[in-house]
Amino acid sequence: MNKHEANDVLLSTQIVIEQALMRLGYDQTMIELLKEPMRLLTVRIPVRMDDGSTKVFTGYRSQHNDAVGPTKGGVRFHPAVTENEVKALSIWMSLKCGIADLPYGGGKGGVICDPRTMSFLELERLSRGYVRAVSQIVGPNKDIPAPDVMTNSQIMAWMMDEYSRIREFDSPGFITGKPLVLGGSKGRETATARGVVIMIHEALRLKGIALENARIVIQGFGNAGSYLAKFMHESGARVIAISDVNGALYNKDGLDIEYLLDRRDSFGNVTNLFPKTITNAELLELECDVLVPAAIENQITEQNAPNLRAAVVVEAANGPTTLEATRILTDRGVLLIPDVLASSGGVIVSYFEWVQNNQGYYWDEQEVDDKLQIMMKRGFEHVYDIHRTRKVDMRLAAYMAGVRKMAEAVRFRGWV
Ligand code: NAD
Repeated sequence: MNKHEANDVLLSTQIVIEQALMRLGYDQTMIELLKEPMRLLTVRIPVRMDDGSTKVFTGYRSQHNDAVGPTKGGVRFHPAVTENEVKALSIWMSLKCGIADLPYGGGKGGVICDPRTMSFLELERLSRGYVRAVSQIVGPNKDIPAPDVMTNSQIMAWMMDEYSRIREFDSPGFITGKPLVLGGSKGRETATARGVVIMIHEALRLKGIALENARIVIQGFGNAGSYLAKFMHESGARVIAISDVNGALYNKDGLDIEYLLDRRDSFGNVTNLFPKTITNAELLELECDVLVPAAIENQITEQNAPNLRAAVVVEAANGPTTLEATRILTDRGVLLIPDVLASSGGVIVSYFEWVQNNQGYYWDEQEVDDKLQIMMKRGFEHVYDIHRTRKVDMRLAAYMAGVRKMAEAVRFRGWV
C-alpha cells in the first residue's frame, strides 16, 4: 500500500473485512457483498442562510447491510466528510453492532459543512433539510441515525421533529441521542466514554497495571474525550495530557480536568484558552500507560507508531490507527483495543434508547450503566478470546467477532 492508500479508511476496512470473512470460511461472494455498503444515497440540501442567500450542501447516508435488522449509526457534520469515509463508518457500525450482538446492521451519514461557522438557525435548517432528503430510506425499523462528530442532542431533536412531521406521527424511535425530554436515554451522552473506561479497566488488568495513578493521554476533548477525562480523573488515574484541534496541554503530574471541563466549548475546544505546552503529534508520543485517540482518523501511522510509548492504546475515535501502524504496535507488544470494540458504548446505549422508545418505558441510569458494562465486557472477552485462540491481532479478531453474525444472517436469508 502506498501512503495515500494507507490513509484510505475504506480500503483498509475492506482489507480486514476480507481477511476476517476468509478466516471464518466464507467465500468470495460473501466478501463481495459485505465489502461495500448495500446502499449509498447522496443528497443535495439547499439551505437558506441568515444573510438571505441559499447555500447547497452535500450529504450522504450509507447503509452497510440489513440482514440482521435495521441499520444504525450517527450523522457527522464536518468539512472533511467524504463518500468513502461515510461508507467505511457504516461498515464499522456493522462490526460494532455485531460484537455487541445488537439486532442491527451498520449505517452512517454525513454532511459536508462546518457547524462552527454556522448560526443556530442555519444549523436547524440544515438538520431538517438532511432529514427531508434522506427520509425515504430511514425510519425506526429501517435505519436509525444518531449523533457523531459535531452533531448533538439538539440536532437530533430537530431531526426527530422533522421526521415526525413528515410521517405525521410522533416517532421518537427514528433517532437516538435525543434530549431526555424527547425520549432520550439516561446515560446516552456519556455512553461512549463509559464504554472506553470499561475497556481501559480490562486492558490494564491484562497488563497488570493499577488504575490508581495510571498515566492517561487523551487526544480530543469532545463528547468522547472530555467525559473520558472526567471519569479517569474521578477514578484516581492521572490524565497527563489532553488535546483538541488547536493543540495539546501536558502536565506530568496530571491536569486539572474539572477546570478544563468547565471551560471547554460545545465543539470540544479548550486549549486556545491556555499557552499550549505541546502539539498533537507530540502528545501521541508521550510516555504513558494508556493512550486514547478520541478525535479523528489516521492519527497513528507507520511514521509515529515506532515512537509511541504507551502500554495500551484504546481507540475511542473511529479509525485512528492505520493498518501498518496496527502491525507495528502489535509487533511491539502494545495492547491495542480497536475502535469497533472500544467505542461501541455509544451504539449500545443508543440501542437501549430505541428499546425504551419502542416500549414507552424508561430506565434509570444505573440500569443503563449495568447493562452497558455487561455487554462491553462480553464483547471484550469474545474479541480477546479470538485474538488468543486464532492467533490474530486484536483488530482482525474484532472484525471476525463483528462480521460473523451478519454473514450468518445473510446466509440464513438465502442472499448468498
Ligand atoms: P466531537 O466533535 O465532540 O469532538 C472531537 C474532538 O476532536 C474535539 O475536541 C476536536 O477539537 C478534536 N479534533 C478535531 N480534529 C482534530 C485534529 N485534527 N487533531 C486533534 N484533535 C482534533 O466528537 P466526538 O463525538 O467526541 O467523537 C470523537 C471520535 O469518537 C470520532 O472519531 C467519533 O466518530 C468517535 N465516536 C464518537 C461517539 C460518540 O458517541 N460521540 C461514538 C463512537 C465513536
